Amino acid sequence: MQPTDKTPAVSPRSIPRDQHNVSRKDVSPNALRVLYRLREAGFGAYLVGGAVRDLLVGGHPKDFDVATDATPEQVKQLFRNCRLIGRRFRLAHVVFGREIIEVATFRSNADDGSGDREVHDGGRLLRDNVYGTIEEDAVRRDFTANALYYAIEDFSVRDYVGGFEDVRNKVMRLIGDPETRYREDPVRMLRAVRLAAKLGFEVEPDTAAPIPVLAPLLKESAPARLFEECLKLFLSGHGVASFEGLERHGLLAGLFPETAAALKSNRSGALRRMVLAGLRNTDQRVANDEPVSPAFLFALLLWPAYCRALMQLQSQGMHAVEAQRRAADRVTVHQLDTIALPRRFSLPMQEIWLLQTRFSQRQRKRVFRLLAHPRFRAAFDFLALRMAASDEHAADVAFWREAQTQPGDALAAQLDSTEGPAADGEGRAPRKRRRRRRNGGGGHGDAGVSESAGE
Ligand code: ATP
Ligand code: MG
Repeated sequence: MQPTDKTPAVSPRSIPRDQHNVSRKDVSPNALRVLYRLREAGFGAYLVGGAVRDLLVGGHPKDFDVATDATPEQVKQLFRNCRLIGRRFRLAHVVFGREIIEVATFRSNADDGSGDREVHDGGRLLRDNVYGTIEEDAVRRDFTANALYYAIEDFSVRDYVGGFEDVRNKVMRLIGDPETRYREDPVRMLRAVRLAAKLGFEVEPDTAAPIPVLAPLLKESAPARLFEECLKLFLSGHGVASFEGLERHGLLAGLFPETAAALKSNRSGALRRMVLAGLRNTDQRVANDEPVSPAFLFALLLWPAYCRALMQLQSQGMHAVEAQRRAADRVTVHQLDTIALPRRFSLPMQEIWLLQTRFSQRQRKRVFRLLAHPRFRAAFDFLALRMAASDEHAADVAFWREAQTQPGDALAAQLDSTEGPAADGEGRAPRKRRRRRRNGGGGHGDAGVSESAGE
């Protein structure tokens, strides 16, 4: 075992069935099938990780992981519906239609579980699969609450690191020396905050202490992994708690450096209020089983950064439309250093931003064009959120809320009457300038912004 494992001075415990609340009726039948089959073949078979933790706190796990002393090949022989995956560390996936039960062989500490580091030394694989005992498997996990094993043989919970007490006391405690474990895998800092937010736990003080200092290490983590982690932080129904946790532990700047800077310089706190209002909405939608979109989420989380970049560019004298495009591109590109936001989300995110200035327009043609825009609904919902920051948008929100529900001809008639007699059939107000569209300068295709962006 590595010296990093300052394994807590806790003696192993087996908590019998009558002293815990993990019940087979809350475990997926497929996971139970896997556990029983392994057991019948003479192997140790345990439910492990997040599922045991969630069951102990009365939650409903979304997936069930199994740990065993059978090797992946032995697991494969037991299940027809089994695939072996992973190159370095092989895992068995037992597939039941849409449900996959992941079966992992006990491992020792050679793997840090991060998936971030290639364990190559000058091209040479340092270690191959290193199987271990259940105790070794427990201490290589991240938090004590995540290192509990539910044994199918006697329905007891096995605890090698003090996780049972920690769950009972609602604390997230890192196994081993916190600083060492964060250096091995900085994403553990996010996991501490995320799981505490999700479960309503506290991050134990020694586990929390190094986080603000080590937060910059997040930048070294794989951007794709950070993207996935963000979805879990903000789109699983506890986004507000996650955001406040990130702030409290000094992690926000590690994930969203420009947003953190913008929030800091926004003295009124309006932008932060807006972000929190958006996250509250998102949490509500998740609770109601309504769909939530990563594009909208990132539009929200990066809006402070976008506003700040826009102000800077405009203060340098750049024309509004061009400044908007540049700001959107700049914020996106900078953020990609940290988080791999796929283009299928970053493009609609930018559209949501760029459509914002079009809500102040009332010319008939433009109103109809905006209503027909595929991103209209998202952009409108975003506008409504901006009211949390400033009520200057109240009139626009009221107009567009009404416009969506009105029949087209009624809306047209209303717009014609407010545009006045000079408006032509195209809905143009002739007294206004009809400036030629400028080339956006950035050459980034059509972001759908018309020339009369908000002054
Ligand atoms: P959730 O699924 O609710 O996000 P989880 O704890 O199940 O939480 P997973 O990412 O599914 O998280 O990981 C399953 C288990 O693998 C964890 O409970 C933990 O025991 C272990 N694990 C996950 N990530 C790490 C890590 N970075 N370092 C060490 N162990 C980890
Ligand atoms: Mg899980």
